Amino acid sequence: MTRRFGAAVLRSHESRFAVEEVILNAGPADGEILVRIAGCGMCRTDLAVRRSAGRSPLPAVLGHEGAGVVVETGGPDTGLSVGDHVVLSFDSCGHCRNCLGAAPAYCDSFASLNLFGGREENAERFTDAAGGELAPRWFGQSSFAEYAMVPARNAVRVDSSLPIELLGPLGCGFLTGAGAVFNSFGLGPGDTIAVFGAGAVGLAAVMAAAAAGAVAVAVDRHPERLALAERFGAIPLRAGSAELPSQPELPSQPDLPDRIRRLTDGGAQFALDTTGSARLINDALRALRPTGHLGLVARLHTTLPLEPGALDRGRRISHICEGDAVPGLLVPRLTGLWQAGRFPFDQLIRTYPLADINEAERDCDAGRVVKPVLVPERTSG
Ligand SMILES: [Zn+2]
Ligand SMILES: [Zn+2]
Repeated sequence: MTRRFGAAVLRSHESRFAVEEVILNAGPADGEILVRIAGCGMCRTDLAVRRSAGRSPLPAVLGHEGAGVVVETGGPDTGLSVGDHVVLSFDSCGHCRNCLGAAPAYCDSFASLNLFGGREENAERFTDAAGGELAPRWFGQSSFAEYAMVPARNAVRVDSSLPIELLGPLGCGFLTGAGAVFNSFGLGPGDTIAVFGAGAVGLAAVMAAAAAGAVAVAVDRHPERLALAERFGAIPLRAGSAELPSQPELPSQPDLPDRIRRLTDGGAQFALDTTGSARLINDALRALRPTGHLGLVARLHTTLPLEPGALDRGRRISHICEGDAVPGLLVPRLTGLWQAGRFPFDQLIRTYPLADINEAERDCDAGRVVKPVLVPERTSG
């Protein structure tokens, strides 16, 4: 069955998004579902496509924090029914060693499935109104659209009483910050964590730390973001302008690690860097107590120099992808915490009509919004 609907198409790395009609030329294959998107978060990884040096194929429909309602299922084995509310997460193959080991974020095929082209099978089903091919789905979904065709494996069923249009970021950004705290660090009461960067991922980590009964210090240079971090239970710590990630040649503010050590009884047990700034990563290591663990979630674009002694005394550093999460386990945990008032992620969200996606990108780039969520208007049944 052919279905025509509105979607935000990105045609080149420089162009603006264009909301236009696209066409799906077939219904769901075995193991797939068609989802009517209620809302889709905008994540840094969507915008990084502009700097992907052509590795992510265009034209494409981006968007990988979708949530919505199942309108068709393919085959008997999706485990989902028409009308189910679902949060969509990243794609994974399901049969490599890491998928079998409940670590789907480290799937052998993660980059190809999510970032660099998607599943090849049935790719030609998705075209623009003139019949021009669009890239196979992005992160297994391509949710800046009214509809998304998704492997059922990527979809997590959620309670239909939840505000479905706001839940999409639980599939990536909020999952990343909260998963680092719950899964990678196993934070518990009395633990200490320093969070560098109070954006969507960092603030989700702050909320999760508070929910776990831990002490969090949040470092950022924007007072309004620190105010949010404080509202969610963190000790705010203003980084000076010398710590702007965009000015890596400037020297560090010498007392930042000292200030964190003083606030955490001699050093934080855990630190989470969301900035990718080499200097802040070194500051984070210096703020750790012996045996402390620093997790990185941003993609590094340069060699990472470490100061002498940075990893002494059992300190360690690791990269964390998608919060080490199995989405089917973590997403329901986060919605449960939200219902209990202990993970108020909705306070980080501003909704935009899908037609205003370029404005959402501008606001995101300028730091005027923590988490934009694009809401499609219905132009088709
Ligand atoms: Zn896999
Ligand atoms: Zn993301």
